[in-house]
Amino acid sequence: MNVEALARWYADEARDLPWRATSDPWAILLSEVLLQQTQVARGIEYWRRLLERFPTVASMAEADLDEVMHLWQGAGYYARGRRLHALAVEVCDPEGPWNGALPTPSTSEDVVADYQRLPGIGPYTAAAVASIAHEVPAAVVDGNVRRVVARQTATLQPTTADVTSLAQVWMDDAHGRNVTPSAWNQAVMELGATVCTPRAPRCSDCPVQQGCLAHDHADGPTAFPTPAKRRVITERLVALVDVDAQGRPHLIQRPSDARFGGLWGPRYLDASDAAAVDACGRRTKAGDVVHLLSHRRLEVEVWVGQTKHGVDPASKAISTLDERVLDVAKRG
Ligand code: SF4
Repeated sequence: MNVEALARWYADEARDLPWRATSDPWAILLSEVLLQQTQVARGIEYWRRLLERFPTVASMAEADLDEVMHLWQGAGYYARGRRLHALAVEVCDPEGPWNGALPTPSTSEDVVADYQRLPGIGPYTAAAVASIAHEVPAAVVDGNVRRVVARQTATLQPTTADVTSLAQVWMDDAHGRNVTPSAWNQAVMELGATVCTPRAPRCSDCPVQQGCLAHDHADGPTAFPTPAKRRVITERLVALVDVDAQGRPHLIQRPSDARFGGLWGPRYLDASDAAAVDACGRRTKAGDVVHLLSHRRLEVEVWVGQTKHGVDPASKAISTLDERVLDVAKRG
């Protein structure tokens, strides 16, 4: 890997993303947590919205989880919002070890390890924030980096240890040539996100085509890495939407350890349970919703009944699935 060629390319071609204009660890942490499972355009919208309301870790710590979840609504993977709030509360705990601030090289002997002690922070996010906000030379490993490593070395199924080890060799090489850790990590990820893409890599535009073993391989670059097999589980559910005389649904707040924990929505039952069959018998079927999560296909029958007291759904944080369910109930 010609690290200087990639660093030069990144300096010229990097996308103009708003979090690249800051070195504030809280703003960078927020961007990394959001980007884990949200597309960039959407990530920008949520990043701005959340940062406007919670410009500091302390401002999120002081807020109710409900408010955080309301702002997170529509971004998906709601556990991230809950864990970020838990992280803020822990960092700002006056009895805790963090003194109200995220770890920095001046307060921590091992910034990457300390980030990983915080709720919801894994090896990727820890290395990303440590390198981008604090210039700690820790290589990040995400799906983009894995693909670039697999293709540069023509490896079908590189292990996480293999990828981490080579990514760190590249980082050390780049760092030794005065490329900052922040720029280097972002350069490799940017290459994977914009040029060395999963299905249609643009090898003719690639700054590190020379020496790329997958590019020269008879099977072509897309043979590397072999796609991971994803098993999708189907769940059949029944949503019980009871509405009051004004058409407002009865909503419950889901427990924090449940799917969509902390968000509000109608009651769900497993479609195969006798309780569901019994409950549906007293209601009218309004329609069906099929909703895809990363490893699950949710097939939801929507049944409508009556209640005395509903609430305005706009006043609550609700998942995209439940928005669809309530819409079907309304139209049914
Ligand atoms: S030459 Fe092609 S396959 Fe190799 S790193 Fe560049 S874009 Fe990816």
